[in-house]
Amino acid sequence: MNHAYGSAPTGIMNPAEVRLPTGDHFARRARRLETLAERHPPLGEFLAFMARLAAAQQVALERGMPSWQPAPGAFDLALAHGMPPLNAQALLDDIDLPGELEALLAALELHVGEAQRPLIAALHRLPPQALRRLAGQVVAGEAGEPDMRGLMPLVAAALQVAWLRLVPTLPHAPKRPQGELRALCPCCGSPPVASLVESDPQSSGVRYLQCGLCATQWYFERSLCTLCEQSGKLDYLSLAPEADAAAVGDPGVAQAEACGDCGGYLKLFSRALDADAEPLADDLASLALDLLLGEEERYRRSGYNPLLIVEG
Ligand SMILES: [Zn+2]
Ligand SMILES: [Zn+2]
Repeated sequence: MNHAYGSAPTGIMNPAEVRLPTGDHFARRARRLETLAERHPPLGEFLAFMARLAAAQQVALERGMPSWQPAPGAFDLALAHGMPPLNAQALLDDIDLPGELEALLAALELHVGEAQRPLIAALHRLPPQALRRLAGQVVAGEAGEPDMRGLMPLVAAALQVAWLRLVPTLPHAPKRPQGELRALCPCCGSPPVASLVESDPQSSGVRYLQCGLCATQWYFERSLCTLCEQSGKLDYLSLAPEADAAAVGDPGVAQAEACGDCGGYLKLFSRALDADAEPLADDLASLALDLLLGEEERYRRSGYNPLLIVEG
């Protein structure tokens, strides 16, 4: 799984435009979630479960063999034309969806409490067509039907594993997306979960968007709305330290890049403030910020985190 595609040509002035996820991605996310679970006691149980889920994703990724492999050259045309080669909607019928879900559940089953057992049992019983429909809703960012909603985060987790399997099958990393695709993942076409501002010497101060599905990161200019590309009415909002301490136990590093032009916001995590920030994990740990912005009804969330159901 380890591969060097997309790694930085190391030079201070030349940060990588696209960074593909590494083979230990879920293991690193699991460690981050464990840290965050300790740091934010009110969310501790939720984040600890998400840590176990990420650890199970790592096991499933390493154990499972994909039953479907893309044909050689399958992605050349898309790569040459700057289209996402691993388009999520397009490949849903190609990947082994039931196999991916079973691999994840097998890895998770030993580590869940009684509360989650009915959920796992329901997923085992899910007919293939129903699973396919849920998967379609997950990649479309839809909330789904109320009675099926509880199953969606685990289906989403299985899809994340499937896409992390696909990324290393690319002959090379895609280029940074252009034009109207600029804010969509250059690998799979999904929206970003959040922004990450780097602090390492090669890319200090560089902003990357991270894909909610396949965890690919791509360069995006700072101080520019990722939704409407205006820059005039951007505001950077975070929880006031005292409010945050009451709500989640510890002042976090989450900021919302909120745009007065289009009314959307995307969270931003700075590695200068916390070197271990991982956008998807830190997004889960900063739900208090979403609640605050939701209450104010000034801005709507744009971040795509398939492990969260956001009722629109
Ligand atoms: Zn992606
Ligand atoms: Zn905007």
